[in-house]
Amino acid sequence: MLLASHILKLECVLCGSSYTPGSVTYTCPNCGPQGTLLVQYDYDQIRWNYHAESRDPSIRRYRPFLPIPYGNRLPPLIVGGTPLYPAERLRKHLNMRNLWLKDETRNPSGSYTDRGAFVATSLALPEERKLACASTGNSALALSQQAAALGLSCQLFLPLRSARKLAGVLQLCGARIFAVDGSYDDAFDLSIEATAKFGWYNVNIGYNPYIVEGLKTVGLEIAEQLGHAVPDAILVPVADGGLISGIYRGFEDLRQLGIVRQIPRLIAVQAEGAPAFVRSLGNEALRQPEIVSPTTQVESLAVGHPHNGAMALRHVRQSGGFGITVSDEALLKARQELAALTGIFVEPAGAASYAALLQLLEEGKIKRHEMVVLLATASGQRSGETIEQREDELVTLARGSEGLQSLELQVSA
Ligand SMILES: [Zn+2]
Repeated sequence: MLLASHILKLECVLCGSSYTPGSVTYTCPNCGPQGTLLVQYDYDQIRWNYHAESRDPSIRRYRPFLPIPYGNRLPPLIVGGTPLYPAERLRKHLNMRNLWLKDETRNPSGSYTDRGAFVATSLALPEERKLACASTGNSALALSQQAAALGLSCQLFLPLRSARKLAGVLQLCGARIFAVDGSYDDAFDLSIEATAKFGWYNVNIGYNPYIVEGLKTVGLEIAEQLGHAVPDAILVPVADGGLISGIYRGFEDLRQLGIVRQIPRLIAVQAEGAPAFVRSLGNEALRQPEIVSPTTQVESLAVGHPHNGAMALRHVRQSGGFGITVSDEALLKARQELAALTGIFVEPAGAASYAALLQLLEEGKIKRHEMVVLLATASGQRSGETIEQREDELVTLARGSEGLQSLELQVSA
């Protein structure tokens, strides 16, 4: 594999060992799969190559920050450059003056995971390596689309429940689906074993060190969209912990370059039925999250073993942040309210930030005057779920004048 000249080293988040790029592909050889590697850059090179005035609004504008060698071709689908909305009606509803909503549903496959898939496919491209990934759905959708755009082979490991919902869409893009009769964590482990056996290129979050580096463009964009003002808090749903680390990394890069002065407080949001990360956050002695058996019905959050957890624990603590859990019921209610007040329809996990904000305002842990960013992480349009209809509000009309008559009655009622 070609190496990016602006990467200095890879550093294990557990034991601190450093590796030269190219000497290790995935995790720390001393610590095994838990020893996620943090990419360290030569910031002088990034400073030299980064042109803030670039007119490309997609994540390509951040190419100098990405772990992609300059010789590599970039994937063709437009990723990133998603809107950061002032969400006026939401502000009014909550009596907040400085609330923002980052709309990640606008990516090609409808979620932030497209940013990781952008890096993954670009790295695999020169040698046409076969891609492998475990996913509850979002990463699989992202990878299948971008692999299709480049003609790369794509093998996806999904828990059976997710595979049943998404296999059709994924197969349209030419991906091979392996439905694992178990949890996401089982699918994750199997994907790693399969990778070793068949020589595939594994791009799991928390295993492949470069995926978080794609996700960091969320942080880079938020900072730029706010004119490099640093928010008081960013609320981020945590499954494997890749996104929250990514946002930290984005701000950290900008701090290294002297563009922002500090890192926003990162607030980790998990489902009550999968609280491994949040539960471990408060215990400073823990350097990696404890493992739980998820009971939440919200698939994107049903992760018992946050694979990027060691890195994310460090990042959330360093940001001065904390964690919070929300019930499945609160998530569904928040999703409905978010759609009605912003016009953005997310999957249940996509409303986790908003559900958490409601709780934190109530508890006084977030103040109404603070600058707060919520993430709408993934669209509800393609998750394969059926949305319950309110039958009593569904008005059926006959054709023609008869229909118009009953409509008049309805409207005047
Ligand atoms: Zn290590």
